[in-house]
Amino acid sequence: MTNKDMGFQLTILGSSSATPAHGRHPSSQVLRCNNDYFLIDCGEGTQMQLHRYGIKRTLINHIFISHLHGDHFYGLIGLISSFNLLKRSSPLHIYAAADLEKMIQVQLELTDCKLVFELHFHTILMEHAIIFESKELQIETIPLSHRIACLGFVVREKLGERKINKTQTDRYQIPVTALAAIKKGEDYTNTKGTVIANSLLTTDPNPVKSFAYISDTLFLPEIVPHIQGVDLLYHEATFGNDRIQRAFETFHSTAEQAATIAKNASVKQLIIGHFSAKYSSDDLPILLAEAKAVFENTNLAEEGLLIEI
Ligand SMILES: [Zn+2]
Ligand SMILES: [Zn+2]
Repeated sequence: MTNKDMGFQLTILGSSSATPAHGRHPSSQVLRCNNDYFLIDCGEGTQMQLHRYGIKRTLINHIFISHLHGDHFYGLIGLISSFNLLKRSSPLHIYAAADLEKMIQVQLELTDCKLVFELHFHTILMEHAIIFESKELQIETIPLSHRIACLGFVVREKLGERKINKTQTDRYQIPVTALAAIKKGEDYTNTKGTVIANSLLTTDPNPVKSFAYISDTLFLPEIVPHIQGVDLLYHEATFGNDRIQRAFETFHSTAEQAATIAKNASVKQLIIGHFSAKYSSDDLPILLAEAKAVFENTNLAEEGLLIEI
């Protein structure tokens, strides 16, 4: 398997809302895309969770914070401090609302912490925008409806190059120097002037993978077009049907509402998390059943769960 075939791997680090409860940690997930590790939200205890699940902290170069409620970023200063003590050398990029930079800078200043690595803050706004782009993928924001400004993230792999069919390129005696253009989709013209169609020489690239992270939000059907058909949707499901009114009052979703979004967006797979402390581990199968009644391919975002996309 080459790196390009690896796709995405998501590891759940935290699945609790508001406070750590019933052995669950506040929100955090890490998405591996080939050699890049993207940390999405960073609740208290995130670095211990990274350690527990064997993910090297130093591999993380990009951190995305959905909103400035503590259960989504209180682990950040600890992680930054550890990076500094471990003499990190590569730059760290944090994508978040502007006020996060102020909070982090005050903490660094008052603890007389002088960073030995570059820390770059990228302000993200309440709008649909592409906030990160590399050769392999792009990350977009989706405005959500919560008590404070809150964003979801959609990670989409870019379509790779066409794959060379070696039997065919040998048969048509294609020189190595022509392969780069053929991988990009061009036909080949040989020395006699004969055009050999690209479709004879290549096969389709790997299908692109996609992942959507829908953080704290009221049931919000407006997001459906932005996450249509994604391979994996994480959607918060703070409450079950027994507390639907509470979900509405606190700008959160129920498991059934998360599943309705998954169904309407025709996603391939749903995971639900951000469970209220009202629900113990024994209660979570009830939330799962409520979601599955609407969208069968649903799983709980259990900590340590690794999902290959
Ligand atoms: Zn939260
Ligand atoms: Zn929140």
